[in-house]
Amino acid sequence: MTSHTEPTSAISISNVTKTYAARGNAPTKLALDNISLNIPRGSMFALLGPNGAGKSTLINIMAGLVVKSSGTVTIWDADIDENPRQAKSNIGIVPQEINFDPFFTPERLLDLQAGMYGVPKRERRTKELLELVGLLDKANAYTRALSGGMKRRLMVAKAMVHTPPILVLDEPTAGVDVELRRQLWDNVRELNAGGMTVLLTTHYLEEAEELCDRIAIIHGGKIVANDLKENLLSDAKGKEILVTIDRAIDHVPHALEIFGATLRAPNVISLCYAPKDTTMGQVIDAITSRAGLGIIDIVPQTRDLEDVFLELTR
Ligand code: ADP
Ligand code: MG
Repeated sequence: MTSHTEPTSAISISNVTKTYAARGNAPTKLALDNISLNIPRGSMFALLGPNGAGKSTLINIMAGLVVKSSGTVTIWDADIDENPRQAKSNIGIVPQEINFDPFFTPERLLDLQAGMYGVPKRERRTKELLELVGLLDKANAYTRALSGGMKRRLMVAKAMVHTPPILVLDEPTAGVDVELRRQLWDNVRELNAGGMTVLLTTHYLEEAEELCDRIAIIHGGKIVANDLKENLLSDAKGKEILVTIDRAIDHVPHALEIFGATLRAPNVISLCYAPKDTTMGQVIDAITSRAGLGIIDIVPQTRDLEDVFLELTR
């Protein structure tokens, strides 16, 4: 049992390593390098990383589709090795690739999937799920006639037929147009608001930033950051400010070079400083006393996840 002070995990990953065996000319590949990660219950969690980082490998291990080389994974209360059936029923996974028979109707597809999970007929939520993902009017259409975004939403419904407490989406909006991406985001937000723990992988920074409350960044099979989104953004190494000065200058004064100052306009200087080492007061002092300039205005620049991402994956 976990203690009450510890947040309870929806998914707990501990020292997981995955090495893919050599195939043909391809050498063995270390895809996950000793990964540990906790996904808190109720969170909306992004696993963010570039292509090839190891995101799908990790998701597929959770799903029981890829066998890890070492480490432990617990899904809700079930260890995937000791209790694979329970682990599987605790999680709904929307894989990266769309994988259903295009000749079934959405209704039939969900019904078959529910049957596979042993959900009794009375307890099936086919209509409710179709409504949830905005496909009730397509219940009896051929799935092959659905748009890409609709197929993706049908995959979400399919992952939920057994009412798991955790929903995992592997790159849900890759190749989906902007409008449909918004719809899918709204769906996912609603599910999370209703209490579902959501883990999604993405290589879109804006998706992680817009949708998730916690973000882990994976790069080269290693977790290089894992924090609340706000912390990740404010922990970023430096702050940037734009300072409007009381005259035009043609080069950065010597006293400001330590702040990596650059001229944005003849009377606007950009400066960077690390809040943990330097106060804003010291920066202002350098501008006014040492460089002898008057300050008209100071505008802090907000950093976005892209800056953090680039720093961490450089
Ligand atoms: P992501 O989903 O973040 O793009 P993947 O988990 O798909 O990354 O891949 C991680 C690394 O493992 C990549 O270098 C990829 O080429 C390699 N890889 C993935 N699947 C296999 C496999 N079945 N056999 C060998 N190498 C693989
Ligand atoms: Mg992938």
